Amino acid sequence: MDKNKSVGFTNRIRTFFVLLGGIRIHDFRAAKTLVRLEFSQYPFFIAWGKFFIWALKQMWITIPNVMPWMSIQKPLSKEPFWLEAENPLENYPWKDNPDSRLPESVDTLVIGAGFTGASAAYFWSKKAPEERRMLVLEMNDAASGASGRNQGTIVMGRYFAMVRDTVKKHLRKTRQDLTEDQQNRLAEQFADVYCSAAEHNAELIRQTIIDEKFDVNYHRKGWVQERLSDQQESLSESVAAGIKSGHTDWTAIDPEQVFKEAGMKVKYPAGFSKGAGSWHAAKWVWSLLTKALESPNVQYFSRTKVIRVDSEPNGGYRIQTSRGMVHAKNVLYAMEAYLPKFDSDFHDVIIPHQEQLSSGIGYPENMPQDNSITGRYYFGTRRGNVLFVGSDSTRVPDRLAGVSKPSKFLMKFAFSEYMRIYNPFHFKLTNLWSGTVGYTPDEFPIIGSIDNKGKYIIGGMAGSGSGVAFNAARCIVNRILKITNEPDDYPPEYFAPSRLLTPDKHQWPAIKNK
Ligand SMILES: Cc1cc2nc3c(=O)[nH]c(=O)nc-3n(C[C@H](O)[C@H](O)[C@H](O)COP(=O)(O)OP(=O)(O)OC[C@H]3O[C@@H](n4cnc5c(N)ncnc54)[C@H](O)[C@@H]3O)c2cc1C
Repeated sequence: MDKNKSVGFTNRIRTFFVLLGGIRIHDFRAAKTLVRLEFSQYPFFIAWGKFFIWALKQMWITIPNVMPWMSIQKPLSKEPFWLEAENPLENYPWKDNPDSRLPESVDTLVIGAGFTGASAAYFWSKKAPEERRMLVLEMNDAASGASGRNQGTIVMGRYFAMVRDTVKKHLRKTRQDLTEDQQNRLAEQFADVYCSAAEHNAELIRQTIIDEKFDVNYHRKGWVQERLSDQQESLSESVAAGIKSGHTDWTAIDPEQVFKEAGMKVKYPAGFSKGAGSWHAAKWVWSLLTKALESPNVQYFSRTKVIRVDSEPNGGYRIQTSRGMVHAKNVLYAMEAYLPKFDSDFHDVIIPHQEQLSSGIGYPENMPQDNSITGRYYFGTRRGNVLFVGSDSTRVPDRLAGVSKPSKFLMKFAFSEYMRIYNPFHFKLTNLWSGTVGYTPDEFPIIGSIDNKGKYIIGGMAGSGSGVAFNAARCIVNRILKITNEPDDYPPEYFAPSRLLTPDKHQWPAIKNK
C-alpha cells in the first residue's frame, strides 16, 4: 500500500491551517518538552529555530501525508475509553441511598479513589479488625482521575537504569556532601529497592486477580519500547545494568523479534519489558473497591470533595469535606497529581504532567492485541478492534491537574509515528482525552508518613502507578495497622517524603560497599 495517498496541494493547505487553528496553550508547553528532548544540545535560538523547522515539516509534510488514513467521528467524544464501561459504583452511595451520611469519625480516611485509594481500601478490608473503619472519599467517581485515563498497561515499574539515572541526577544537586562514587552507589541502591518492590507488586496483582476472580481483561504479553539509533548504546547499557543488579525483566530484542511481539517494523533493537501486562484500568479500580465494600469496616463516598485537613490538638485530623466534617486518626493522600493544588506545600514536590490518549476503530494489520508499545513520542496498545494512540508528558500548572485538555496536534503527530512503524491502516478516531500524572523531582515515588504521625502519602509514581500503587497501599495499610509479619517493600530511608520535604533531616540509607 502507498503510505502517501496522493495529497493534493489544497488538502495540504487545509490540513496546515486546521493544525494551525487548533493550536492551544498546551501545545506551546509541549513544544518546550520537545525542544528539551530533541535540541537541548544547541544554544537557545538555534534550538528554537530547529524546532520551528521541525514543526513546519510536521504541518506541511508528515501530518498531511497520513491524514487521508484517519477519519474523525463527529462529535469526537472526550470520555476516556475505559469510562464508557458501566461503573458499578457510579454516584455511590447517593444513587441508591440519597439520604446517606458521612460517619463522624473513622480510623483512617483516604482521599481519592484511583489505583491507590482503591488498593488501600482493598487491603484494609482484608486486614483491619472490624472496629477499625476506613472511609474513602472521592470528589468525582472512582477511577475518574489518571486511573481511568491511562492506556491500561500494568508496568513492571520503571527499569533499573532509568530509576538509577533519574535519582543520580537529583543526588548530584541535593547530596553534594557525597563523592560522585557514593552518589552513584546510592542511586543504584534506590533503583534496586524500587525494582524489587515493583516485581513484588506485579506478582501481588496477578495473584489478587486470580484469587478474587476479578473480571478485568488481564493479560501479560509484554511491552515493546522502540529505540532509535542514538539510543542503542544506552539500551545495551541499561540491559547490562539490569542483569548485573538481578533485575532481568528489562531486556533488548532485535527487529525480527520486535515484529513478532508488536508487528512494528523497526531498524534497531528495541527495549522489552517481559513481565508487563494489561487490563481494563477502570475495572481494576471498581473491582477492588466493590470487593472492599463487602467488608463492614470500609465505607466509600463518591462526589464528596475534601476541602482541607487540619491536625487536631490531641492527635488525629479534622477533615472538612463538601458534605460535612469527619474526624480521623490517620489520613492517606491518594490524590497523586491533584495534591499540589490541594496543599501548596507539595508544589515542586509532586509535579503534575499532562499525558494524553485517543482511541478509535482500526489498527495495523500485524499489531497483536493486549500488549503495549512506546516510542520517543508515542505510546499505545490495541484492545480488540480498538487502537489507543497516546503521547506527551509535559508539566502543567498545579491548577490544571485533572483537567482534560488534549492536543489535536499531538494526537495527529503520534498517529504519524504509528504510520512510520506500521504499514498504513485506516483509523477512525472516536475518543480523545488527557490526564495528569505526578512526578517528584527525582522521579522516585514518595510513600510513607508526611508528619511522622498519621498523615500518609503514596504519590509521585511518574506515570507508572500500576507498577507501584498496589504494593505501596499494602505497605501503608500494614504500617497503620502495625502488621509486621510481612515484608515492607517501601522502607522510609528510600521512600519517606522527608527525602524531598526536609532532605537535611531525612534519614538516608547507609551506602553499601560494592
Ligand atoms: C494518558 C495516560 C496514560 C497512562 N498510562 C499508564 C499506563 O499504561 N500504565 C500505568 O501504570 N500508568 C499509566 N498512567 C499513570 C497512571 O494512570 C497513574 O500513575 C495512576 O492512575 C495514579 O493512580 P492514583 O490513584 O494515585 O491517582 P488518580 O487515579 O489520579 O486518583 C486520584 C483521585 O483523587 C481524587 N481527588 C483529588 N483531589 C481530591 C479531593 N480534594 N477530594 C476528594 N478526591 C480528590 C481525584 O478525583 C482522583 O480520582 C497514565 C496516565 C495517563 C494520564
